Amino acid sequence: MQGPGRGRGRGRGLGGGYGYGPGGECVCPNCGYREPHQVGTPCYSKKCPKCGAPMTRA
Ligand SMILES: [Zn+2]
Repeated sequence: MQGPGRGRGRGRGLGGGYGYGPGGECVCPNCGYREPHQVGTPCYSKKCPKCGAPMTRA
């Protein structure tokens, strides 16, 4: 039986397996264009203004 405090599902905000946090950058995997990540707008929902490829988190 696992103790409480390690709820599953949403427990990956900070200190998770990735270094993602608020802020940071989005990067285009196609051409390398970077821009500041906007909170509330996932990088993958944005498109690179240069080449139109979906952005990803840097
Ligand atoms: Zn691009």
